Amino acid sequence: MSNTEERIMRPSAFPMIEPEEATRLIFENVPAPSADDLEMVPLLEGDGRVLAEDISATQDMPPFNTTAVDGYALLSADADQPRRILGDQTAGRLSGLIVTPGTAVRIMTGAPLPDGADSVIMVEFTGEQGDTLTVQFAPKVGDNVRPQGQDLKAGQPVLPAGTLLGPAELGLIGTVNRPTFKAVRRPRIAIVSTGDEIVEPGGEAKPGQIYDSNRFSLVSAVRRAYAEPVSLGIAPDTKEELRELIRTALANYDGLITSGGVSVGKLDLVKELLEEIGAIHFGRVNLKPGKPLTFVTVEQDGKRKPVFGLPGFPVSSLVSFELFVRPAILKMGGRTKLQRQVVQVQLEHDISHSPDRNEFTRAIVTEQFDPAGGGYRYTARTTGAQNSSRLLSMLGANALLRLDPGPSLFKAGETVPALLVDRPEV
Ligand code: AMP
Ligand code: MG
Repeated sequence: MSNTEERIMRPSAFPMIEPEEATRLIFENVPAPSADDLEMVPLLEGDGRVLAEDISATQDMPPFNTTAVDGYALLSADADQPRRILGDQTAGRLSGLIVTPGTAVRIMTGAPLPDGADSVIMVEFTGEQGDTLTVQFAPKVGDNVRPQGQDLKAGQPVLPAGTLLGPAELGLIGTVNRPTFKAVRRPRIAIVSTGDEIVEPGGEAKPGQIYDSNRFSLVSAVRRAYAEPVSLGIAPDTKEELRELIRTALANYDGLITSGGVSVGKLDLVKELLEEIGAIHFGRVNLKPGKPLTFVTVEQDGKRKPVFGLPGFPVSSLVSFELFVRPAILKMGGRTKLQRQVVQVQLEHDISHSPDRNEFTRAIVTEQFDPAGGGYRYTARTTGAQNSSRLLSMLGANALLRLDPGPSLFKAGETVPALLVDRPEV
């Protein structure tokens, strides 16, 4: 068939929707966590968990006046006169010593400030002869003192529900004396590869077969969306076995991701099977790569469970995960910020484009500081050939360039939106 002839494509049963509509349908139909989806988590297991309660300070921090340095607690009014040393105030106990005019107490960082003292001088600026302290200068009131409540006040809100917990957040929860906290249970997401040609790595690929790639990509991607991936293996292209795997997945887990079997081939059975058991919200999206992406919800045991039928080509599968499944899983996990940051980037070279599609091109975005332009600007170059089978096009990509329908070429120097999936290069 020549390019000038009109091509008639076999119609699909599913209308083609735009990506924004797909996102809207996903957010509308994917459940946020309910009260049964919360659990208490110990601090040591808190990394990457999502907080399901507001955390406030239960007491002042520091809970008492304390010293920021090792030195001597004393009175500013004694100026640069020598003082008599009364004894030691170490951290973690009360010495009972009271600083009066003409005296000082040796004090260690973090120890409670003895009664009477109004300042601390650093040990580096002092001398000791017998029990006499000499100072190089007169301390001012409040020098090196951390007053009670300087960092946190009792009752002060510290972290809101929905916060993703990392090093600073977990330290804060410990500081406010909470050994455990309420978190959203990690959504458990089953992952299945489909296809008679797909073989487990390590097994024997017969003529016509290839090794599984998608399941390993998706397990990693699900984990990075702070959920718990469960690999259910490879389903052949037979209705009975596929149906059984889908049933098992939905009976035991919070959601399911399949890859392959959603296009219009004779053995692309996934859509048909999902239609039997749930509500299909969409079965085609105007995307490249990722057009056959399918989204279904199934009501099971009083819960709504999402199923994402991803296309088989490894890049199609990962890009559609990034654009649609990741935000859905974040919502299931109790997160409130669901979308990646989008920045405007200037193209470093021409990029050809399928004019009828929303193309998400894998790219490397570099950040440059532009003093003349008054800030940062971003440029982008693609990761080479963009075939949806070529997983190498995902390597090193920190962005997906969004090329809207219309032109068949985007020229070097043009500006397009880029979804940042990782930090820009510098
Ligand atoms: P399908 O959507 O099932 O028609 O598959 C589209 C293409 O993706 C075919 O070339 C498949 O062999 C390939 N494919 C499907 N599943 C996988 C997988 N799990 N790993 C690697 N390639 C796959
Ligand atoms: Mg297949």
